Formats: sequence, C-alpha cells, structure tokens
Amino acid sequence: MGEFDLIARYFKRPVRRSPLGVGDDCALLAPAPGMQLAVSTDLLIEGRHFLSTVDPRRLGHKCLAVNLSDLAACGARPLAFTLGLSLPQADEAWLAPFAQGLLALADEHGCELVGGDTTRGPLVISITIFGEVPAGQALLRSGAQAGDEIWVSGHLGDARLALEVFRGTRAVPQAVFESARARMELPTPRVALGLALRGLASAAIDVSDGLVGDLGHVLAASGVGATLRTEAVATLPALAEAMTPQDRLDFALAGGDDYELAFTAPAAAHEAVQAAGRSCGTALTCIGQIEAAPGLRLVDAEGQPVARAVTAFDHFA
Ligand code: ADP
Ligand code: MG
Repeated sequence: MGEFDLIARYFKRPVRRSPLGVGDDCALLAPAPGMQLAVSTDLLIEGRHFLSTVDPRRLGHKCLAVNLSDLAACGARPLAFTLGLSLPQADEAWLAPFAQGLLALADEHGCELVGGDTTRGPLVISITIFGEVPAGQALLRSGAQAGDEIWVSGHLGDARLALEVFRGTRAVPQAVFESARARMELPTPRVALGLALRGLASAAIDVSDGLVGDLGHVLAASGVGATLRTEAVATLPALAEAMTPQDRLDFALAGGDDYELAFTAPAAAHEAVQAAGRSCGTALTCIGQIEAAPGLRLVDAEGQPVARAVTAFDHFA
C-alpha cells in the first residue's frame, strides 16, 4: 500500500461542513460570520506520550481527544482537524483501528478530518484542530479575579494511578486497573461543558499536566493566587477507594493526563455553574478560591495550611 492509497483508504472522507477536505493542496474552512477561529496543535510521540503496546483504536481516540480538550478549554465549538502522521510502516492491522477510534470521536463532535501529511518515520501523531467561538467570547487563562471560585470537572488522578501500576509502584485489583487505564487511554473531552461555560467562567484551562501546574498557568496569566481545600481535592479521583489518602490528594493535585477542565467563576455564579454542569451531565466540584496574594496554598478542612511538594510535568525540566 503506497502513501496515497493509505490516505485514500483511511483518511479521505467526504466533508459536510467544510467547503473542501482531503485531496487538494489546502483544505478550506468556513467559520460562520462573527466567529473567531480557535486553533490548537498537539504532538503525540511513541514512548513519550503513549506506550507502544497501546490499543491503536484507543490511541486514535486519545490523539483527537487531547485536541478537543483544548477547544473545550477555550469554549470553542469543533469544526475540523488535520492529521500529521509519521509511521514506521503502512501496517493495516494498526491503521484500520487507529482510524476507527479517531474518526468515531470526530463524528461524535462533528469535527471533520480535512487534511494532513503522511511520511515514514518513528511513530508520531500530530493533530491541528480548528474550532469557532463568537468574537471576544473565548475562555482564556488570564481572566481569573480575586474572590472567584475554582472548579474542576469530572475526576482527576485516575490516569496517574494507571501510570503508577504500569510503572510497578502500585498494585490494584485487575478491574480497578482496567478502569484507571480507560481513564488514561480514553479521556472524555469536555466540549459541551466548555460551550456552557461561555459567559460564565472567568478563566479556564484543560488539565493535562496535573492540576497544580495547569492551575498555576491560570494564576500566572491572571496575576492572582489561590487557596485549594485539600479535602475537596482528595474527592476528585473516581477510584479513590483503591488509593491511600495521600495518593488521593497527590494524584489529584499532580496526576496528569486527566483532560478535565479547571476553571474559575465569580462566587455569585455558583448556582449557574452548577446548572451548566447539570445541563451537560458533567459533575463539577468547587475546590477553592482565587485570592489577590500570589502563590498556591493548600488548606485542610480546618483551614490549616497543608505542606505538599507537588510539581507539574515539564518535558524539559
Ligand atoms: P502535499 O504534497 O501538498 O503536502 P500530500 O501529497 O502530502 O500533499 O497530501 C495529499 C492530500 O492528502 C492533501 O489534501 C493532504 O491534506 C491529504 N493528507 C495527507 N496525509 C493525510 C492524513 N494523514 N490525513 C488526512 N489527510 C491527509
Ligand atoms: Mg504533504
């Protein structure tokens, strides 16, 4: 199978919303009038972002999910994406399930594959995604204000449990491992929540490198600090029963690979935020508040400071 057969077979699909898809030198997109384009790129490299043994269908899902998660964090509606693919060989037993996992999630979100590039090389997958958001309404990292509440969607820390089991530092029953592994390999991008938070959240980010690090980006961009309640944070892992109390807190604070949204909203919008979560069926947990004093503080149920050395993931640290 040659390069062009491969593209035609697995990645060339008729477009519905975009004026031009795969097959020409460029794709054409048509954002609606008054909309801004939201654009994001993610690279996934074998051995760094995923294990070589991962199910290719799950990998296809995850590659797009991490990009959809970036659109969600900006409150943008997905339009289309391009796929850069470097493959060691044209292995149909890998390509077919990879394309299925990728395109099933794309269809779920009405996000069309409109182009890409395919070469031979180490296994690397790079997706650039395009979404649209009404001009001026994108959720940014820079809007958090003192007094705002800090919220997290869904669950945090379960993907980290799976990673630690893979690393051999933790042991859990098989069923727990499969659940944790599904959280790591099949993240759910919170696209509907991102849309529902437009006009409500003051700042937002998706949690990919761990809550402390990602929330830290919001604090830095907004020029504020925050206090987190550890007893609320420790409830975030879905698989908390399989973790020690310390792991619950540490994995939720610094786990990574969660692809939930962390966002801030004025305290006066508390009920409206809860209603937004209900409207899209996503659990939301209020875990702390934004303060003028810079830095991130942790307090226990009695309001006493909690000391925890947590560091965010950094590819070059
Ligand atoms: P060019 O030489 O202009 O880069 P290519 O020959 O690489 O074009 O690609 C031919 C067409 O196939 C283009 O429309 C390109 O966007 C599309 N394409 C290439 N690789 C992929 C891929 N992995 N997924 C989707 N479309 C792809
Ligand atoms: Mg090319």
